[in-house]
Amino acid sequence: MPDSASKNNTARFSTLCSPDDEKSCFACCPPIRPAGYDHADHQQALTRQFWENTRDFARYGPGEKIITGFQCWGLGFLDQKRVMIGCMLHPGRNQGRDLRDLTGYGDKCRRELCQEAVIFSGLASASAEFVLELARGLNSFAYSSLKRNPAFRLLHWGPKLIESLALSEPAGLDRDEYLKRYAFLERDLDPKRDAYPVELLLDRFDLNVLGRSDFLTRYRDDLTRFSARHRQAVTLPLENRPYLHQLDLPSHFINFLRHALGWSRSLPSQAEAVRRELDRLLIEF
Ligand code: SF4
Ligand code: SF4
Repeated sequence: MPDSASKNNTARFSTLCSPDDEKSCFACCPPIRPAGYDHADHQQALTRQFWENTRDFARYGPGEKIITGFQCWGLGFLDQKRVMIGCMLHPGRNQGRDLRDLTGYGDKCRRELCQEAVIFSGLASASAEFVLELARGLNSFAYSSLKRNPAFRLLHWGPKLIESLALSEPAGLDRDEYLKRYAFLERDLDPKRDAYPVELLLDRFDLNVLGRSDFLTRYRDDLTRFSARHRQAVTLPLENRPYLHQLDLPSHFINFLRHALGWSRSLPSQAEAVRRELDRLLIEF
């Protein structure tokens, strides 16, 4: 669990980590996990482990025990009802004393901040409420799971799409209704590849128009042709070109280059030329 006190927009950030007194997120604990690991797939074993951690912490207090990174003795239940799961070593629970260094991972624990929390911290209140409504009723395991929590997946689309969604649905949506009406955001599109083009299209089209099957078919066809052309074009033997993350470009466009075109490096001028061409294609769409 990161150190919310050191982040900007503390209230909004903390709200995503712990939105109410029925659930909390512990997805970033411990800080090193195997690729694709999901706490929710191990709920039974982890629940037992959290019970033991909570009992031992209450019985024996903290001790210096270096963790491997895959399991942490500081992760336990935070409330009497045993529904909130989080860091028992956080200064907020220990009269201001930060006990996380006892695990050997204190610096990493304080630093760890997921991409979803960063995006959430920049949302307007109505959009933040829309996102959290999608997670209503989930327990801490499901809430911490990218597979089971659509709110976290929606955050990958970024503020523009979320704000457009919140405006289209001013009364909010429950999880089932959202997954039914906006299935195309998960089934037909992928934020890593499509967030940049979709954001441009949102300047001219309503989100519900984007979800129409005729619109999606045309979008897919145009983008597939565009991607094929630029996948082939970028075979310049310039291995000292900057990596994409070094370019001064919007993160969604960098993701487009990486995931739609398969690029890992680019000259700034190449990337800008593709961006201009893509912008033109979408403006004329
Ligand atoms: S994974 Fe993100 S939302 Fe969850 S506790 Fe960590 S920073 Fe908060
Ligand atoms: S010390 Fe706390 S923040 Fe760090 S991994 Fe363990 S439970 Fe998470």
